[in-house]
Amino acid sequence: MPTGTPSTPQRADTGTAQPARVYDWLLGGKDNYPVDEAVGRKLPRQARDAARQNRAFMHRAADWLARQGIDQFLDIGTGIPTEPNLHQIVQRVLPAARIVYVDNDPIVLRHAEALLVSTPEGTTDYLQADGRDPAAILRHAREVLDFERPVALSLIALLHFLPDDQNPRDIVGELVSALAPGSHLVLSHAASDLHSDLARQVTEEYARAGIRLGFRTRAEVARFFDGLDLVEPGLVTAPEWFRTEPAPPPEDSGIYAGVARVG
Ligand code: SAH
Repeated sequence: MPTGTPSTPQRADTGTAQPARVYDWLLGGKDNYPVDEAVGRKLPRQARDAARQNRAFMHRAADWLARQGIDQFLDIGTGIPTEPNLHQIVQRVLPAARIVYVDNDPIVLRHAEALLVSTPEGTTDYLQADGRDPAAILRHAREVLDFERPVALSLIALLHFLPDDQNPRDIVGELVSALAPGSHLVLSHAASDLHSDLARQVTEEYARAGIRLGFRTRAEVARFFDGLDLVEPGLVTAPEWFRTEPAPPPEDSGIYAGVARVG
């Protein structure tokens, strides 16, 4: 059962495009509204590839981390449930794993109960909260996860929704500083320097729909990993990140991805 949810459910805003629902449309999902689809249709077709590549990176990284024995996950910017969800991948390997999901979009909360169904041995938990409030997220997560033991903090396709004036570096720093040695940071991020024309086009379309984006260069994304040990293959494009065979097919991509260990 999701916990930590507000007592008065918020209604989905169907008149304004929302990041979670545009992403759902890009992935071919059905949990979006015409206003979201209209944004999706204006984006270059590579945006759909990027969404798929990003989600596939999540699958591989979560599977690899579970195989390393990481059985606690704090996933911020979860998105609308799309099978397989992170907990399903992790609990396939470690049935007793505990996962805390966090998103600020009420549509994710609406779908949480139906889809965030844990194994009997494990736990899944959903918190509606803003990623810009790491203290509140940590307060809640500590009730479910043991921060004396390793936790995987996943910020997958989240941080490009936080331009620099939202202080994403401080947010990541505060979250990472709560993690015990052996924890991991899992991150993916849209690039501003791989296909800069497309990146600009995407940023402009989202801005027209009222959604601010802050795509970043490789060097800027790398700074989120400062002080941590990037695991092989390092900070690469999403299709290039893999640790277990088979290797994904080589593909052009505008998404950076990496996993790092907290020393
Ligand atoms: N992590 C998932 C979904 C990525 S879409 C995946 O990679 O497949 C980005 C998600 O981040 C959306 O669900 C959106 O609602 C959420 N998000 C954006 N800004 C947020 C914020 N400030 N706080 C919490 N969640 C946020």
